[in-house]
Formats: sequence, structure tokens, C-alpha cells
Amino acid sequence: MERHGHWIGGVLVPPSAGEYFAVLDPESDRPFALAARGTPADVDAAVQAAQAAFPAFSRAPVNVREAVLSRAAALLERDAEEFASLMVTEIGSPIGKARHEVQRAADVFRAAAGATRYLSGKTLPSDTPGKLNLTFRVPLGVIASITPFNVPLAKGVRLSAIPLAFGNTVAMLPSEEAPLMALRLAQLYREAGLPAGCFNVVTGFGHEIGDSLTGHPLVRSISFTGSTRVGAHIREIAARTGKKLTLELGGKSPLVVLDDANLARAVQAAIQGSFGNQGQVCMASSRIYVQRGIAAEFLSRFGDAARRLGLGDLRDPATVIGPIINARQRARIRAHVDDAVAKGATVECGGRWIGHRCEPTVLTGVTRDMLCHSEETFGPVTAVYAVDGLDEALRAANDTRYGLAAAIFTSDLGHALRYARDVDAGMVHVNGATAQAEPHVPFGGVGDSGTGREGPEYDMEAMTEWKWVSIQL
Ligand code: NAD
Repeated sequence: MERHGHWIGGVLVPPSAGEYFAVLDPESDRPFALAARGTPADVDAAVQAAQAAFPAFSRAPVNVREAVLSRAAALLERDAEEFASLMVTEIGSPIGKARHEVQRAADVFRAAAGATRYLSGKTLPSDTPGKLNLTFRVPLGVIASITPFNVPLAKGVRLSAIPLAFGNTVAMLPSEEAPLMALRLAQLYREAGLPAGCFNVVTGFGHEIGDSLTGHPLVRSISFTGSTRVGAHIREIAARTGKKLTLELGGKSPLVVLDDANLARAVQAAIQGSFGNQGQVCMASSRIYVQRGIAAEFLSRFGDAARRLGLGDLRDPATVIGPIINARQRARIRAHVDDAVAKGATVECGGRWIGHRCEPTVLTGVTRDMLCHSEETFGPVTAVYAVDGLDEALRAANDTRYGLAAAIFTSDLGHALRYARDVDAGMVHVNGATAQAEPHVPFGGVGDSGTGREGPEYDMEAMTEWKWVSIQL
């Protein structure tokens, strides 16, 4: 089996302890490669390499960084099928989702290339006669980037290209479920002409080496995407060590359908939001609130569409539902459904497993005492609730600790805008699905869904520092 080292200082480096871990194909749980099992010493080497590369990279002319990131976009498009194929094998992604993610990642590269020219300052008046005040945005240094398994390329690119755009350098800890994607990304950066040491990857287990990365004295800012549990832990480390922080965490995103909605479009959005990437999506529509008068019709159409979703070969574009990533996640999904059923919920469709794949599952009769009511299931399981109107929908939508995305289907502009204003979420979509992303928008959530926003303009706060310069004329 192929063995993969860390990527440090522009070369592949064997693990300092000589240990590797198996990378499993989630369809069968069979190992198909070995990745280096990182230690704190490996993390230190990666951070030191990033720190050593920082002075030259941060002072490079802006068109150098712009060119690297533009070339990276083109190379990713050239090798799109190879990247998509790796995603199918490594995380069990259906090919359609994988191809879409590759294109999204290329878009992020281009947005980052453009962002290289955003860094700007101001001239300010002064209290002192003859003095000129200037402000500059300066890059920070080493950024620790930590990615989740479900969108390994989209997040791998976002959490590296944007910091690099501003002249920072990166030490990345990818999900232990998707180490090869990060290593392939490193090769892409090398071919695009990124200088050695600007992008480093240490593979391994977050619970073993994560703290040595986030707590490293040379790391100036942490960009983390993953679970709320790990995010809360990192928040404490960042506070203790005085680091800047962006956290993109879990969600329990509500989709509201009022009785004046275009039902066909609402059903389509519910399908995409609940079952895309087999529900392993942070913005998944895991709570669907439908106005009572149309609830039966919605449920019938939604169930029919869910039953038709493909569970075939992952490389067949008709397949939508792939395997769940690992045994722990599978157990969690089963526990949520079993708990709901034991406490009186009804399985309207799905609920069975075919190998490691869970059928698209729709529950009704879900109550507050059930796990799936308020916890993130992170699988193809959603609950439909009947509500009397917008006021009740809003109350229910806000009955959560999360606040990532929210959506509403209605033809009443007033209702749409009131929902957009009053729902506790970082991102709200009218007549669209909860799961949406674009490279340049402020992406992120409130409450247990995170801190800060991603997107070049918004990342600037977490990835650069102001400098005040005064000149006495
Ligand atoms: P996870 O929290 O288990 O792991 C994420 C990363 O954290 C991995 O790279 C892991 O190695 C690392 N990690 C673990 N312990 C660490 C520690 N002590 N210090 C530093 N890093 C550590 O999450 P996951 O299962 O890979 O991903 C699923 C979660 O991510 C879901 O909750 C999902 O909602 C969330 N997510 C959020 C977004 C978003 O943009 N808001 C996007 C994708 C996924």
C-alpha cells in the first residue's frame, strides 16, 4: 500500500515517529493507503517551515501571489477529474457532489487571486499640525488551518488560498478522514509556483496533535472548520494564547415553507438541503417547518422525491446518497433515528441501511426530548413539522443553539424579509436551499455555529493586522 509523508518545506517528509495510519474507503472500510501519523515534533517542523517562508512571501509583489493563485485555479480545472475521483475514494463522495466541489474550489482560487489586491489602508486626519496618519493592513505570519472531512477540497482551498492571498503562510491539519486530498493540494500549489514552505500539511489525528498546532507560539491566527465540540476547545486555546480565530462549526438549519410558496421548488430545495452529500453538510436542512394547510401535500411530494434518490455506484452521476464516513458517524445517525422512534416519532420514508449507506429518511412527530430535535445528526435524516404560520415558524426556527443557515419559501415579500431579519442565522436564503456557498460572500454562523466570517473581505480581519504609521511633515 502506498505510504504518504507530511508535506513540509516543499518536500514530502516521513513521520518523525515512523508511524502511519490507514486511510479507509468508507464504502467498505477497507484501507487503501497509509498516511503519516503526525506528532507534535512534525507540527513544530511545519510551523517553523511556514515561519521561515513568511518574510519573503509577505513582501513578494502582489502580482506574484495573484499569478500563483490564478495558476492554481487553472491547474485544478485541468486535473478536475483526478481530484473528483480521489474524493470519491477517500470520503465516499458521489461523483456529482465531487465535481461540483472541485469547481467551487477553483472559484475560490480565483476569488483569492483577486483578493491579493484588496489589502488597503487609509489616510486619517491628525490632532498634530503637519502630521500625516496612514494605516496599513499587514499579514500576520503563520495561519493554522484545520479542515473537516465532508468538503475536504472546498475547505482545503478556502483555508489556504485566502490566507496566502494576504501574504500569510499556512500550516494545515486536514481531517484524518481525508489526508490525501490535502497532500494532492500541496502538489498543486507546487506546480502553480508557490514557494516552498508557504503551504505545509501535517497529517494525523486532531486529538493527538491539534493542540500542538493551535497552541503553537508562532501561529498567529486559527482558521477552523469542524464540529462545535472541537471548535469550543479551540476557542479556549485561542483565548488563552491570544490568537485570532475563525470558527465554522455545525448547524441545525431550518427551512420554512409557507402556503403561498412554489411547492415544486420548495420540495427540490428540501431534497438538496437534506440529502445532498448524504446529509453530511453543515448547512443541511435538518428542520423543515411547513404551513399546516400544505403540510400533507409537501410531505407526500417530499417523500416521493426522497425515495427516488439514487443509491447506486458512486461514479454514476445519478447517485446522490453515498456511504457515511465512519463507524462513529454511522452509530450517531442510527442512535438519532432509534431514539426518535422509541420516543414516538414516525419514519415517513427511509430509515433502513444498505451497507454503509443510510436511506434518505424523513421523520414526523419529532419532539424536543428527542436527540435529533436539537443535535446535529450529520446524515440523510430530516424532520418535517407543521406550523400555523410565520410567527410559529420563526419561534421554532430560533429554538436552537445553532445559527448557521436558514431558508424560507414564500411569495410574500414582507414575510420573507421579516424572516430574514428575525431568524437567528448568519446566512438566510429566500426561495432557495439552506445549503449554499459563494467564494466572496460573508460565510458563517452565530451561536454554536461559529465565530467570524469566511470570504476574502471578511477573512481580512482575522488574517491581517492594522498598522498605524504617522509622518511628521
Ligand atoms: P471534527 O471536529 O471531528 O474534525 C475537524 C478537524 O478538527 C479535523 O481535521 C480533526 O483532525 C481536527 N481536530 C480534532 N481535534 C482537534 C483538536 N483538539 N485541535 C485541533 N484540531 C482538532 O469534524 P468533522 O467530523 O471532520 O466534520 C464535521 C463537522 O464539521 C460537522 O459538525 C459540520 O457541521 C462541520 N462543518 C462545518 C462547516 C462550516 O462551514 N460551518 C463546513 C463543513 C463542516
